[in-house]
Amino acid sequence: MKNNPPIFSNLTDIFKNKFGKKSLIGNKLSKQIFDYDRSLKPNFPRQIQIETTNICNHGCTFCAYTIMKRPKRHIDEKIFSRIVKECYELGARDIGLFSGAEPLTCKKIDQYIRLCKKIGYEHIYISTNGSIGNFNKLKDIVDAGISSIKFSINAGKKETYKDVHGKDDFEKVINNVKNISKYKNENDSKFWLSVSFVGMKNTKNEFPILKKILKDSVDEMVYYDASNQSGQMKDFPDPPYTDCHLPFNKAHFSVEGYMKACCNDYENLLVVDDINGKDILSIWNGPRFKALRKQHLDDKLSNTLCANCIRSKKTIAEPINKKLHAKSQNK
Ligand code: SF4
Repeated sequence: MKNNPPIFSNLTDIFKNKFGKKSLIGNKLSKQIFDYDRSLKPNFPRQIQIETTNICNHGCTFCAYTIMKRPKRHIDEKIFSRIVKECYELGARDIGLFSGAEPLTCKKIDQYIRLCKKIGYEHIYISTNGSIGNFNKLKDIVDAGISSIKFSINAGKKETYKDVHGKDDFEKVINNVKNISKYKNENDSKFWLSVSFVGMKNTKNEFPILKKILKDSVDEMVYYDASNQSGQMKDFPDPPYTDCHLPFNKAHFSVEGYMKACCNDYENLLVVDDINGKDILSIWNGPRFKALRKQHLDDKLSNTLCANCIRSKKTIAEPINKKLHAKSQNK
């Protein structure tokens, strides 16, 4: 069976306009961005995201991973199990098993997908650069029950890819996408196969080239302009939004087992609390999370990372939990 023609979407403007196309990624984002309770104590969210690892084998030039100082590691299995079980009981149904790094560096990723599937999560997704291992590694992830795999490919030519990603993996990644697409079609597998392209001034003209290469292999290709990565990459422009939904409708968990407000916070500046010894709902409804939401509601972001992200502040951001920030830098 052949793929339907792929959907091509430019998501750079999604924060300004409601997204009406058939884009799975666009519609999912659009729902999160426009349809949420912007209050001090919103319900526990449907969406959670877990940093299964903070290790990446690439170093894209626009990505704050390249300047991250936080020690690199994988999440502890017991902490992972506790998070996914407790959050499911609280109502979470949509789960991302990555955060700003490469989930396939985590050897237990297929085991984690199976666990989430068994618990009952309805949408389990990853974003990967697709360069680790071969087709069999990706097949294991599909067979484990993934709902959506997004390949991050930020160039359309081998040479540019090497310059952007820092690794000469373009051909390998393209082959991996084509092979997993073939497997999907031969087995009538229902997972969503997409590609994202983060463009910079000198690379955005290669998105059409990548489109041509992969148009028969994917369900969707999305384009974004590179932005300041939550204020951490100061030479890039601010993101295309001025109000942020994340502290209100998504729960994030760091590799250390801390609950935090943002998936893009490489130094744990927006860590709210440690889940060890505390129930997750009490942290979601607790004073630190409420204080951060109030700062957003009152537009008094002070010296938080959020101020650098959406208010063009260029200062050194202060952690909202100084103790855990310091602890995670030294682990
Ligand atoms: S840094 Fe703050 S404002 Fe920016 S994306 Fe993260 S939570 Fe939202």
